[in-house]
Amino acid sequence: MNRFEDLAAFETTDPVLLAVGERAATLLQSSSVVQGLEALRVAIVDFERAPVATRDAYFTSNCMAVVPEHGIVVNENFLRDAEIAIRAFGLSGSVFATPFLRHESEMFAFVRRVRAHPREYLAALRTLSTRNEGEQCRRDELALALVFFLGHEVGHLRDRGDRRTFTITLPEGAPLETQLAAATAKYCRHVDELHSFGFDLPGFDLAFTRGSEVRAAADAVLATLPPHHAVNHDAWFLAENRADDCGIEVLVQVLNAAGPWSETAVPAPVLAVRALFAVGVLSWFRDFLGLLEQLSPEPERANVGSLILDMMSDRQNYVRASSVFGHEHRFTLLRAAVAMGRVLKQCAIEPADERLRAEVTQRWYLCRLLMDTAVKLASTGASTAWMLEKDKERGTPQLFMMQFESLAGELNRLRGMGA
Ligand SMILES: [Zn+2]
Repeated sequence: MNRFEDLAAFETTDPVLLAVGERAATLLQSSSVVQGLEALRVAIVDFERAPVATRDAYFTSNCMAVVPEHGIVVNENFLRDAEIAIRAFGLSGSVFATPFLRHESEMFAFVRRVRAHPREYLAALRTLSTRNEGEQCRRDELALALVFFLGHEVGHLRDRGDRRTFTITLPEGAPLETQLAAATAKYCRHVDELHSFGFDLPGFDLAFTRGSEVRAAADAVLATLPPHHAVNHDAWFLAENRADDCGIEVLVQVLNAAGPWSETAVPAPVLAVRALFAVGVLSWFRDFLGLLEQLSPEPERANVGSLILDMMSDRQNYVRASSVFGHEHRFTLLRAAVAMGRVLKQCAIEPADERLRAEVTQRWYLCRLLMDTAVKLASTGASTAWMLEKDKERGTPQLFMMQFESLAGELNRLRGMGA
């Protein structure tokens, strides 16, 4: 009964999102990867209107490929959040002039406002943007962000790997030991992944060194996972990496296709980097705030102060903290940072404009600096089993402190780089 066509009844009615969806679909056609597909259908769905059976069959919190039907489902809320991020960041020309990047508290206040009333917040942002000529740029930015996320799903379609054929989501009520092992798997994967992109934590080399005593302790925990889960996790990660590579390839092809951009005032690669930055940063701080709120006895006063201690001293918190690394995909900040780097390398900004080049380079660097917290979380997560072993041997817990770089500190570092 549940067919992809039936989603049409619940597609978004938002005129801007519809127009952006069409723009993205047109842009996608300039990619040879997309041209090579047998068919491609995209549905931007308002799941709040959809009946339970449809939700059960097609729900995704962001985007999902439906292989047999050559379709991609996009959750309207995901696209709306991306638009909010792009328009909000678009109000300031530079990262140094962006009010909510000045301090974590301002960033978290921004996240809370967006989370509480997304539709109203977006409506206000849209009226601001129509007062200047940036409207076409904002829509193109959103379309390019969508091209990247759809390109990822195109990768799954090309691989013919349906997400539903394997899953890393543990069944509700899985034993705590299994949840701990699954979280350990996620931390270890991300440490390796971050390391492969050049994100390391000084002094934590053993966390990503296979065969080290730190990883041996983690491996002992992983050995308690049911075998099919371990296999699924490997398959999931490989498929995700391949799909992200495909998303980047599609985006680069679209950006380098001359036709669609002839009338745009701002070079297309600049629009793409702005979009990826906005979506990656907002998504990171939203997930990060969500984690702090879960770990804090007073969610409204959540802060990063005791994060690592909370994570290591409570096994449930250890599991919860792994949630920032994504359930359906790898975490967005990493995906965005990798994509931004590749766009800057493979797409020329033409006509050459030093001011725009500086602007996008700053965004890319800041994205990389912001990875610091994720690297600390992943490194600690991958090392926790070993540290607890050591504590047991010693008979006393080691005092373990880890400082998180503040947003103001990151911006200062960025200034120091002269970017
Ligand atoms: Zn995927």
